[in-house]
Amino acid sequence: MTKAGLQVAIDGPAGAGKSTVARDVARRLGYVYIDTGAMYRAVTWLALTQKVDLADKQALSRLAAEADIRLVPGAKGQRTFINGQDVTEAIRLPVISRHVSPVSAVAGVREPMVRQQRRLAANGKVVMDGRDIGTNVLPEALVKIFLTASVAERARRRYLELVEKGLPVDLPELTTEIIRRDNYDASREVSPLVQAPDAFLLDTTGLTREAVVEQVLALVRKAEAAGHG
Ligand code: C5P
Repeated sequence: MTKAGLQVAIDGPAGAGKSTVARDVARRLGYVYIDTGAMYRAVTWLALTQKVDLADKQALSRLAAEADIRLVPGAKGQRTFINGQDVTEAIRLPVISRHVSPVSAVAGVREPMVRQQRRLAANGKVVMDGRDIGTNVLPEALVKIFLTASVAERARRRYLELVEKGLPVDLPELTTEIIRRDNYDASREVSPLVQAPDAFLLDTTGLTREAVVEQVLALVRKAEAAGHG
């Protein structure tokens, strides 16, 4: 907890609706929204672009340590830059989703990312989403939420998201991909995807986006009312 303002940590598996909910909650509170997955995606994009061997942990660590990543909040959501290049759209491509887990599992990749994330959240009034925010990045965050939903629901949401962007997608393939990514993220050695003991578990299966946002806002208001805002 920082004196300057409250931190909201939202973790959970792929496609649980974290980014949508986190963005809405941040907007409603006048907080800054920080999508940490975008950072790991940006490093993965850079590694693929520079043809770095994804099995070479040292090379990946060096790349991450030297990369200049900027997360710029904007009216239409966060934009992501790496070494001056806007990769906001490129990092959402399925090829990045397929390769991001092994890259983000490398300790040397995570260290500079986590350092930057802590700096960005230091003044509070932030909603940060990811996999290890409540457990590792901001263990003192006053509001921690573990957002989940059934695999079928999460795959369906991702499917609709990608279709809307005009990208070719196959639902069974997407489902397999989500399961594979979650297993990888949950079983890695460094900061695995796991619910923090003090996180509020929110299963969004069958809930509307607005209902989820309201539940999160209620938790934030409760923390604020307790005098921690
Ligand atoms: O949230 P998003 O699906 O964009 O995250 C992409 C990947 O980045 C995750 O599957 C995970 O491997 C990694 N990630 C992570 N820690 C975070 C956020 C994302 O390891 N805090």
